[in-house]
Amino acid sequence: MNEYFHYSHNQLHVEQVALDDIAQQFGTPCYVYSRAALTDAYQQFAQAFKSREHLICFAVKANSNLAILNVFARLGAGFDIVSGGELQRVLAAGGAAQKIVFSGVGKSEAEMRLALEVGILCFNVESEPELARLNAVAKSMGKIAPISLRVNPNVDAKTHPYISTGLKQNKFGVAYTEALALYQEAAAMSHLRVTGMDCHIGSQLTDSSPFIAAAEKVLALVDQLAAHGIVLEHLDLGGGLGIRYDAETPPSIAHYAEALLGALQGRTQKLIVEPGRVLVGNAGVLLTRIEYLKNGEEKNFAIVDAAMNDLMRPALYDAYHAILPVQKRDTPVHTFDVVGPICETGDFIGRARAMAVEQGDRLAVMSAGAYGMSMSSNYNTRPRAAEIMVDGSAIFEVRARENVSQLFAAEKLLA
Ligand SMILES: *Cc1c(COP(=O)(O)O)cnc(C)c1O
Repeated sequence: MNEYFHYSHNQLHVEQVALDDIAQQFGTPCYVYSRAALTDAYQQFAQAFKSREHLICFAVKANSNLAILNVFARLGAGFDIVSGGELQRVLAAGGAAQKIVFSGVGKSEAEMRLALEVGILCFNVESEPELARLNAVAKSMGKIAPISLRVNPNVDAKTHPYISTGLKQNKFGVAYTEALALYQEAAAMSHLRVTGMDCHIGSQLTDSSPFIAAAEKVLALVDQLAAHGIVLEHLDLGGGLGIRYDAETPPSIAHYAEALLGALQGRTQKLIVEPGRVLVGNAGVLLTRIEYLKNGEEKNFAIVDAAMNDLMRPALYDAYHAILPVQKRDTPVHTFDVVGPICETGDFIGRARAMAVEQGDRLAVMSAGAYGMSMSSNYNTRPRAAEIMVDGSAIFEVRARENVSQLFAAEKLLA
């Protein structure tokens, strides 16, 4: 928990608003974000890197709600996108095309065209065939595409295997050993302009050393390129800084920045970073209500109205989220598995949680601002949750709860 989520008179608040009031007004399940927490995290980044020219590109996939993107755009952020859909979201939210970097291993021609039309800052290219395609698309439009190669430094991020991206066996980036040759190919292509180098080794890193190891490999390659007459304007060191969900002890934003800046000493290129989770993770909670308390033969269950379709991380990564009662009680504590209504045993939000709760109580699933709503689905024909942003004592509904008719509006019966 951070200062933006706190108890007052036994009621859990976000900034100056009681979560219970939000639940009553908007129902559950619902995501609630703190604008102050978002702003604080962004400003910590900006402050930490202010000694050099830099651009903070928020990784949109962590949370792509327009209001969140707008908060960051107003603070001057750039954006790291991985699809044409995310590009359109950023523009709709008031983000500047000239501050967008485009990552991802599978960019389609249509996505490339859109990004070239609006004039993004850089394509982070992840393979040789992608270079060729981008060159051809740019040529057909009479444009020059600015590119970085995403280099795979073969560094172990020491994180969950599903979110580790910088190892040889991963699908991401170009092989370190082939990067020089590919840069030379790219430099010779008529409609590409080589502007930078990129790497991103994984997510939820709780130690600085893999970031430094990756940066050092990138810099060695930058030197090799320079020796071959390829001079870069920017270095993009990706995202990945972890947050505290439970007992993790990730470096602070300041320490992480200090480590990166140390590694970059004497380099003049503009620095780009692509933080996602660390900017939004601890700025949001998922509010849910206990439908039933059920005593099983071996376990007690708190069956809540949020499920794996709303928050997939526990089911997908066995991830831990703290779960707090919205109203503290003095009644006896019991141990519960907190589970959703979905017909899967993997549908759990938390296991073996000691809580003093009653049926009808509300719970806050903490640290749910990153990869929560953005990974949600309609599995079991469950409308997606509402999203609320709190700003001081003001409450904004930034996404209305879906209704069921929307869910099958595009479906058709047979003739
Ligand atoms: C997901 C992703 C990020 C953000 O990762 P976080 O762990 O959320 O900071 C940055 N860059 C790329 C290319 C990504 O795929």
